[in-house]
Amino acid sequence: MPRPTSPHIVVIGAGTLGLSCAINLSEQGARVTVLDAGAIASGSSGRSVGVIGTQYSDAFDIKLRVHALRQFRHWETLGLNFQRIGYLRLARTADQMALLAQSVELQDSAGFKSHLHEAGELKKIVPHLSTQGLAGGILGPDDGFIDAHQMCSLLAQMVRESGGTVRQFCRLLDVTRTGGGYRLGVSDDIIRCDMVVNAAGAWAPAVAAMLGQTLHIHPERHEAVTIHLDHPLAYTMPMVMDLVNGQGTGLNFRHEAPTALIAEIHKVDTSSPEDPDAYNDQCNEDSKVALAELLLDRLPDLPGARLGRGWAGLYPVTADDRPFVGPVDPSEPTVITAAGAGGYGIQLAPVIGQLAADWVMQGAPNSMPEAEVLTPNQERNLPRV
Ligand SMILES: Cc1cc2nc3c(=O)[nH]c(=O)nc-3n(C[C@H](O)[C@H](O)[C@H](O)COP(=O)(O)OP(=O)(O)OC[C@H]3O[C@@H](n4cnc5c(N)ncnc54)[C@H](O)[C@@H]3O)c2cc1C
Repeated sequence: MPRPTSPHIVVIGAGTLGLSCAINLSEQGARVTVLDAGAIASGSSGRSVGVIGTQYSDAFDIKLRVHALRQFRHWETLGLNFQRIGYLRLARTADQMALLAQSVELQDSAGFKSHLHEAGELKKIVPHLSTQGLAGGILGPDDGFIDAHQMCSLLAQMVRESGGTVRQFCRLLDVTRTGGGYRLGVSDDIIRCDMVVNAAGAWAPAVAAMLGQTLHIHPERHEAVTIHLDHPLAYTMPMVMDLVNGQGTGLNFRHEAPTALIAEIHKVDTSSPEDPDAYNDQCNEDSKVALAELLLDRLPDLPGARLGRGWAGLYPVTADDRPFVGPVDPSEPTVITAAGAGGYGIQLAPVIGQLAADWVMQGAPNSMPEAEVLTPNQERNLPRV
């Protein structure tokens, strides 16, 4: 339980990043209040596909996952439901296979299991897969997915049990600086605090503006669809990532339930930022057609497969595709940003939350070497081109 003299920290946003930060703050002895304009996980978190994987070929990306996975394993002991169905990333060219081989080495040295497979071996993993045009793939057998609603509900419960407060349908409306702290005008109330964490996802620039800061996060719309099957498959469909030429277009799919898969379409229709309060949160019909065509190429004989409900949500993206964790302005260390996790805000939430809590309580991201590179400084806090 926090002492009454502990600093009072208000976290704006009850998505995966805000709640992860909040539980890390509580564990470090802070008094924490989390606010959300809507319900827990009502932003991007509740619209995600929830995949957690370690298939990266950059050493820093792998380090982030080492820290995230450590905390995910701890949360599993407290009730987090992590479905370890495996993650298969496909490659079409020899160059992509070389990158995957590099990833296997990096993952191995970090203690993650992964195996490289030639195209001819892939059907052993996914019997319905067409291997046409593929050079091979990499399988991480311990990767999988979580339900972000369940993760957020669990973290909220942990925050409350450790003495913190989570207030839903409580929107931050305005901010006034007081001697050494903040007076927050929220729906029907006023809250006083010592420090603020901006974990408002796609809305983080609007929250930053209330705090007198400029933050560049680009809300990018992405779509997903449920695929219904007539009968359960005889195997579990791992997460399969099939990007055309390894670029940002293509699709991924995974098992969701015995007779349902979830597929996400990787394409960006516009370079303009979406308005998080007024974007189309449904899946477009032409996207469903495009998805059906890609899926028919990759899984041509899936028995009775038909498209079900679709939806859209926002990736909160930064200019360099890395999250912002730390102060926007070093001369204002009482406002810490934890936002901009793009398409990785579920899998990176544990490490982002831990580092943001470090910034609040210790003034530096001490839990992980090199984490200063995530600070939203002037070189990084730029509009996305
Ligand atoms: C279709 C899709 C699939 C995805 N798949 C994956 C995946 O497989 N793996 C992965 O890791 N990531 C995935 N993502 C990305 C992931 O969902 C995001 O990176 C992550 O949810 C961001 O979390 P957050 O906590 O930063 O933001 P959010 O979850 O958006 O939380 C921010 C919260 O702030 C609140 N808020 C805003 N303004 C205010 C205010 N003024 N006052 C109070 N509260 C406010 C909002 O209501 C919101 O709940 C996917 C995203 C989409 C759209």
